[in-house]
Amino acid sequence: FITLAIESSCDETSAAVLKNGREVLSNIISSQIDVHKKFGGVVPEVASRKHVENIDMVIQEALDEAHVTLGDVDHIGVTYGPGLVGALLVGLSTAKAMAYATNTPLVGVNHIEGHICANYIEHRELKPPFLCLVVSGGHTHLVYVKDYGDYDILGRTRDDAVGEAFDKVARAMGLGYPGGPIIDDISKNGNEKAMTFPRIYLEKDQFDFSFSGLKSAVLNYLNSQKQKDIPIKVEDVAASFQAAVIEVLVNKTIKAAKLKAVDTIVVAGGVAANSQLREVLKEEGEKEGFCIKYPSTKLCTDNAAMIGCAAYYNYLNGLISDLYLNAIPNLKLGESR
Ligand code: ATP
Ligand code: MG
Ligand code: FE
Repeated sequence: FITLAIESSCDETSAAVLKNGREVLSNIISSQIDVHKKFGGVVPEVASRKHVENIDMVIQEALDEAHVTLGDVDHIGVTYGPGLVGALLVGLSTAKAMAYATNTPLVGVNHIEGHICANYIEHRELKPPFLCLVVSGGHTHLVYVKDYGDYDILGRTRDDAVGEAFDKVARAMGLGYPGGPIIDDISKNGNEKAMTFPRIYLEKDQFDFSFSGLKSAVLNYLNSQKQKDIPIKVEDVAASFQAAVIEVLVNKTIKAAKLKAVDTIVVAGGVAANSQLREVLKEEGEKEGFCIKYPSTKLCTDNAAMIGCAAYYNYLNGLISDLYLNAIPNLKLGESR
């Protein structure tokens, strides 16, 4: 059973071909990071135009690398939200046109569900139920995955997403875009105890997050040092900020896993690539008897293979879309189409 998948929700144009949902035959990712870098973040209109320029080529490359033709494709999976509307529409219109022309079923996919499904590709034996910490550029969720396509959101961020906080803190220190990988990298040479930034846990016994207070604390620190003309040690600030984020993420995740009595915790989304988060959660989680899993770093950030895997399980669950499927920029996880 062959899936062709397309992803264009933000600044990666990607197409992938999968066999039986979990075997990746190709996963082509054309990143626009270099284009958006000079603006310090993604410019939506530029992203849409770049998707239009690249998408046909990316799809052709995915088919070629997998050694399949359009005639071999059994269904087409495509991200229809959440994301930038103009960016989503490029992938969605292309998928619809191909589905119509080849009379192939179309399957709409929630991008965040795709991030979670990246773990099914990486870990062929992984089966629900498990707990998933979703940490991406725009989302921070603690999700109880009851079954394929069946999600219970236990907690979410009330303000900034984790990836967003990483990017904003990096930007304030002039480190470049995207900031997450840079902070990850320079933190290795920093002292995480150099400054004590706040750990925000909110009310007792619930699983929401808040990262804007931490972000402001870091920005205030940077400003006050600047006013006093004291040079900052970016490695120390990065490491101390990162440690504060990770402590809260790890503690809440383990607490939620205990509550749900799962044996496996998985992490998903771009920030799941963070080396310190991977290390600390593995150490603390295993101490409590949980099995901890992540996707490889290529599958953490945006890619079409994860969308194809999610499309496969949607298809098995009978969730086939029609050609009226529209882009939904603020699509929520667990919302049916
Ligand atoms: P969403 O998935 O919520 O719609 P997105 O698709 O833009 O948002 P992703 O591609 O999943 O986000 O992840 C990108 C984010 O991951 C960026 O904020 C980036 O800084 C962060 N990120 C990537 N690698 C790392 C890392 N090693 N450490 C920390 N953050 C990272
Ligand atoms: Mg991206
Ligand atoms: Fe994403």
